[in-house]
Amino acid sequence: MSETEGVIKYQLHHSNAGLSSAIDLSELNAWRTVMFKLNLIGQNLQRYDGYGFGNISQRLETKDLQFIISGTQTGDLAVLGRDNYCLVTKANPQENSIFSTGETKPSSEALTHASVYLQNPQIQAVIHVHCPEIWQNTHNLNLAHTAADIPYGTPEMANAVTQLFKTADWQQTAVFTMLGHEDGVVAFGNSLSQAACVLITQLSLALAIEQAQLCL
Ligand SMILES: [Zn+2]
Repeated sequence: MSETEGVIKYQLHHSNAGLSSAIDLSELNAWRTVMFKLNLIGQNLQRYDGYGFGNISQRLETKDLQFIISGTQTGDLAVLGRDNYCLVTKANPQENSIFSTGETKPSSEALTHASVYLQNPQIQAVIHVHCPEIWQNTHNLNLAHTAADIPYGTPEMANAVTQLFKTADWQQTAVFTMLGHEDGVVAFGNSLSQAACVLITQLSLALAIEQAQLCL
């Protein structure tokens, strides 16, 4: 995997301004902390050349897609502040563009989050983590996945996500892996807790497979 983690590939139109205090970040920030504690979002010199990994978002507005997402390269922080989040005010995956406001720029994978939200207005939360256990067991767990030749954060990924939604059976698991993005896993749901529980359930299933192979 030679691809560099964390580089913004879309056209970003960003205005540097604080997020309104009227936006409630408490639930989003709590789940982001849980993901950090589980080492599913973070930053580690041993992984991905030391770049931060993983990001989390919550839909704010359905009619015109708007969502709050963790900022780029915030993976080293155990707990994020308001200045570490960004409001995406407009996203167009086909045109490869994001409009945003905040004291930090949006995650490099904001375009992938946008493409998930655009599939279904009921999706309220998207969590992208890096989880080797789930990723390596994509086929054993029968998970939906995007192909190994599709890189993260690109219109190609947005198209691949659209295709997944046409073909995958989301009744079972609202999660997919990105085989072209090392350890990349995306979960979504009608709430943050639903998306997080999908991830944790898949992690337990992946660990069960690995442990059965090793020692049980
Ligand atoms: Zn990633």
